Amino acid sequence: MNAEILAVGHELLMGEIVDTNSSYIAQQLSGTGITVRWMSHIGDDLDHLSEAFKRGLERSDLVISTGGLGPTSDDLTREAVSNAVGEEMTVDPGILSWLEGVFARRGMEMPPTNIKQATLIPSATSIPNPNGTAPGWWVEKDDHHIVIMPGPPRELKQVWEETVGPRLAEISGSGVTATRTLKTLGLSEGGIDEILSELFGRENPYLGIYAHTDGIHFRMIGRGPDQSAAEKVIEPVEHEIRRLIGGSIWGTDEDTPAGRAASILMDRNQTLAVVEGASSGALASMLHALPERESFFRGALVPGSGPVHIGHEKAPIDEGGAITLAQIARESLSADVGISVTPVDMQDGNVFIGMVSNSGTHVATGRFPRRNPEWLMQRSATTAIVQLMDALSSNRI
Ligand code: AMP
Ligand code: MG
Repeated sequence: MNAEILAVGHELLMGEIVDTNSSYIAQQLSGTGITVRWMSHIGDDLDHLSEAFKRGLERSDLVISTGGLGPTSDDLTREAVSNAVGEEMTVDPGILSWLEGVFARRGMEMPPTNIKQATLIPSATSIPNPNGTAPGWWVEKDDHHIVIMPGPPRELKQVWEETVGPRLAEISGSGVTATRTLKTLGLSEGGIDEILSELFGRENPYLGIYAHTDGIHFRMIGRGPDQSAAEKVIEPVEHEIRRLIGGSIWGTDEDTPAGRAASILMDRNQTLAVVEGASSGALASMLHALPERESFFRGALVPGSGPVHIGHEKAPIDEGGAITLAQIARESLSADVGISVTPVDMQDGNVFIGMVSNSGTHVATGRFPRRNPEWLMQRSATTAIVQLMDALSSNRI
């Protein structure tokens, strides 16, 4: 079954609000086996909206919209759907008395403009909205479905969880899905395509590839009648990926580089200390966020801007300087492993990550062109933690 999502509202086209509803719906659908083919943003214009729903009916089994269900004259989603399917809207007495009840409980008289929120067309059934005054519609026409839902994210979420999600799961009959992510380091996207091309382009399991700051992730989505069947669909593909590029895989699913580095350190019964310049405390925050921090993290030194001094000498910004700083972290905080991130005043965007332990030293380098300080901070912290994980797991330190 294929679907498209329409996000309705002039404020979306003006860039005033960000369309979080479409991504919410797309995420929900990714677990049902319904494939989203298109997403569109449409302003509050009756002609444009009617055209969007008409086109949706022609090319998609399922058209899902949010927004435009308010009581005011610029909320036109219902009118557009009526146009698209060629049916008249009439007031539904049941919805009307529910709506009057909502206003009565708020101690208010229902304004006449709200009556349109109580309308239906013959092919529509009402979708209850316990959080607001705008019920949705579920329209079935010639084997196609149109589902229109309210715009406010809180209302949408409840409508989805209580009615739309379960009913779609039933209609699509797609069973359940299982997912598995394998996270790798040191591979290029082009190289991967060459090695794994056989595995891409399948429907079940679907294999997606995503480049992240901590390397390339492979995400498998398998479908089956129940959980264990869905997992079985994934198994052979995971096995094949592991056979081909197993050496580059550092983690799965929710694993993070910080978590992996921590678990290696704890396995070795070692502690860690940090000196960080360019990352300005971001590396320490990452490590602090781990529940197991007390078992391995000794702390961090965060020098201010400008050069870092060792005694009276300015610490050089090069490989030697990086090792010296890592050594200072290790000694001053009594840790087994020390790591340093280049001082803030680095030149030409050259970042040095120094690492020291009893078993050796290692320096990783990176080039970060000048950007805003926030970007540099996050990027250098991520690079440092990934490099630490890599150096620990390959026993370089
Ligand atoms: P509407 O149902 O069009 O009157 O929308 C009501 C409110 O819901 C808007 O003012 C937004 O605050 C919010 N909203 C509508 N559409 C979206 C969307 N696609 N993503 C996030 N919020 C939205
Ligand atoms: Mg609106």
